[in-house]
Amino acid sequence: MRKIIPIHVDPGSLSSEEKCGYCTNTTCCTYITQELDTPRSMEDFDTLLWQLSHENIQAYKDEGDWYLLVNNRCHHLQQDGRCGIYEIRPQICREYSNEDCEFNTPSGEDDFDLFFADYKSLDSYCRKRYKTWDRRWEKFARDNA
Ligand code: SF4
Ligand code: SF4
Repeated sequence: MRKIIPIHVDPGSLSSEEKCGYCTNTTCCTYITQELDTPRSMEDFDTLLWQLSHENIQAYKDEGDWYLLVNNRCHHLQQDGRCGIYEIRPQICREYSNEDCEFNTPSGEDDFDLFFADYKSLDSYCRKRYKTWDRRWEKFARDNA
């Protein structure tokens, strides 16, 4: 059996050309983000709550903007961390810079203005934000009458 021996290097000491070859997690290919319209109403947050009810979906607010975080590996990411379609990879992958990527500074929940790991954390936030959160469906019914 092939044994993988982890090599610990300081990402800051590597050139852009060298860096990806030492990166074992390839975090940049394991998620996508989608900017959201800023949620303002209870309806908006109710929809976001539905989105976070799904597997591997999180949300965060960063520098005033809201994003959906979809934590799913790219189908083309190979076991060895290489891109399986490197020659024809999408433009967004070509433009991605590894100069200060997740290998240098892994993102954590504390890096954002707000971070919602799951349904429960968003629901808790909504309860604080809206006194009538538990009765929102009555409002939705009134609005749609
Ligand atoms: S861009 Fe960064 S996170 Fe992605 S494979 Fe290269 S070093 Fe790793
Ligand atoms: S297409 Fe290749 S470079 Fe782009 S996310 Fe997938 S594995 Fe990474």
